[in-house]
Amino acid sequence: MSDTIAVASSEVRIRNLHKVFGGREVLSGIDLDIPAGSVTAIIGPSGSGKSTLLRCINHLERPDSGYVEVGGEVIGYRPEKGRLRERSSRDIARQRASIGMVFQQFNLFGHRTAAQNIAEGQLAAGVPAAAARARAGELLKRVGLAGREGAYPSELSGGQQQRVAIARALARDPRLILFDEPTSALDPELVGEVLAVIKQLATTGITMAIVTHEIGFAREVADQLVFLDGGQIVDRGAPADVLDNTDNERARAFVAAVL
Ligand code: ADP
Ligand code: MG
Repeated sequence: MSDTIAVASSEVRIRNLHKVFGGREVLSGIDLDIPAGSVTAIIGPSGSGKSTLLRCINHLERPDSGYVEVGGEVIGYRPEKGRLRERSSRDIARQRASIGMVFQQFNLFGHRTAAQNIAEGQLAAGVPAAAARARAGELLKRVGLAGREGAYPSELSGGQQQRVAIARALARDPRLILFDEPTSALDPELVGEVLAVIKQLATTGITMAIVTHEIGFAREVADQLVFLDGGQIVDRGAPADVLDNTDNERARAFVAAVL
């Protein structure tokens, strides 16, 4: 019998992360592990720091102290002689390429087609145009939009635009994908098609962190649920434990209000 214990390795490790805006601390010592291949849902009231936390993971915001590690590398900084030194912008771009992000407002380029939006990052990274185009076609198929290569965002519904944005986030084979309220800007009847794509993605072994108010979805899809309040993680655990049995008064009130 083997005496080693199989422990899921953490794809994301966040340690004592602090972020200050204008003298106000909006993240106050976040510690979080996201095991490789798992889904973490982040919930919490508006202004609690959810977006800032996601943005620190891909270095769209730089932490004031503490750090984020993805795939064993500190994001934005390089450990050197016991200290963290800022990485070069080229190195940060390399790290960011391994982390896909999907925003509430899709953030597609309006004057570019679906395929051009998806292929853009690959082209910038030097992937030949034909290969990038082929990959865009494959990804469109994967998000249920086969054949829509030439469609402009204005010709697509919000749900379709968000699925293009998900395809774009997948284009460079990220090891991690971050979703910031991906369905909050959608008409209610379009939420389901986007959640279905994300749910399917969760089965492929990619690591995901998703900020969402879709509690039912979080319960069903997430391996871990994190409740953020006032820049701190006030509860975490298996979704059912947090949602049904939280000891935290504010978490209980929040869940009751959004259900
Ligand atoms: P959430 O996503 O949970 O609604 P955010 O992370 O967007 O919360 O914001 C947390 C707090 O930080 C809010 O009070 C917000 O106003 C503030 N904040 C976020 N980004 C900035 C910024 N770039 N400059 C100043 N304050 C910010
Ligand atoms: Mg937010």
